[in-house]
Amino acid sequence: MDLLNTLVDKGLRRELPTREEALAVLATSDDDLLDVVAAAGKVRRQWFGRRVKLNYLVNLKSGLCPEDCSYCSQRLGSKAEILKYTWLKPDEASQAAAAGVAGGAKRVCLVASGRGPTDRDVDRVAQTIAAVKEQNEGVEVCACLGLLTDGQAERLRGAGADAYNHNLNTSEATYADITKTHTYADRVDTVRKAHAAGLSACSGLIAGMGESDEDLVDVVFSLRELDPDSVPVNFLIPFEGTPLAKEWNLTPQRCLRILAMVRFVCPDIEVRIAGGREVHLRSMQPLALNIANSIFLGDYLTSEGQAGKADLEMIADAGFEIEGTDQVTLPAHRVDADAAAGCGSHDGGGCGPCGSGEPAAKADEARTDLVAVRRRGAGTDLAPNA
Ligand code: SF4
Repeated sequence: MDLLNTLVDKGLRRELPTREEALAVLATSDDDLLDVVAAAGKVRRQWFGRRVKLNYLVNLKSGLCPEDCSYCSQRLGSKAEILKYTWLKPDEASQAAAAGVAGGAKRVCLVASGRGPTDRDVDRVAQTIAAVKEQNEGVEVCACLGLLTDGQAERLRGAGADAYNHNLNTSEATYADITKTHTYADRVDTVRKAHAAGLSACSGLIAGMGESDEDLVDVVFSLRELDPDSVPVNFLIPFEGTPLAKEWNLTPQRCLRILAMVRFVCPDIEVRIAGGREVHLRSMQPLALNIANSIFLGDYLTSEGQAGKADLEMIADAGFEIEGTDQVTLPAHRVDADAAAGCGSHDGGGCGPCGSGEPAAKADEARTDLVAVRRRGAGTDLAPNA
């Protein structure tokens, strides 16, 4: 297929595809799907070998958010019966993080619900970062605390954070349809602040919110322009009790095409399969490892993932290997560029569950049976899943 040969050539040269080429990936047929995965796999292996980076989420503060992001179970007015708790103490967060690290995670993502941190919250998170780093030698820490004000990114960097996650989520054109309490420009501003402070920028998207193929391509091209080190690709978990509860419009095939499109646009960037992996890719998860080089281990912020042990077995069975703390995630040219820009050599992380154009596969049926609210780990007395 000419399209795929062109995209592989471009990906191996780190050359941006055209918008038309990216759209064409989303429009491929089910008959071509394995060829699409194989082509994206060539680009993935060129820059990331067969390594899979494991990231572990710790929800520092859950629910009760004043923002209205319609995809989020923690939003203002959410009726989802999620765990709700205020800030974990540093040692509680560190204990949860240690379970993830013991399970093979090299990055811990410290996430808090809310519009953004107060300066007092930043102090609190600074203590948590110190506790996590003290207990887990060599671990990377990514903070995900919402919109940042001036100086906060620098303080987090000074406290030892390696990365900052803030997702763009969807295209600029549709942003106001999913959130009214802040803007797309606010989100871009925070990613830029993190970047400028020398934090590794992590920023991604959520697919399955009713967006068009054009919206998906728009957001991925916008992400690429922001030059993050990592791009988490979330597949909407339509939580009962949120405005998007009925948006069951993804199929495993569609998810694979979306991941492949992201890989072609971001060939040498860490592409992470984030929230919704088990719910939407289901038994196709191992195939997706041929495209993405990073996943979350265990549970998500407010929902349960498959058992951490099953994640590890899946990676081994598919012929991939867990990336160790002694291995650098990003290709040398990106690490060198960061170092030259004074940004250090760390790489990026992500948080949270956070289209039209079904070319061949029909829209998915509601799989509410696959959505389980998290009832273990951080904020509970039960052991974390890792
Ligand atoms: S995504 Fe973040 S800011 Fe938006 S409602 Fe959820 S917790 Fe709040």
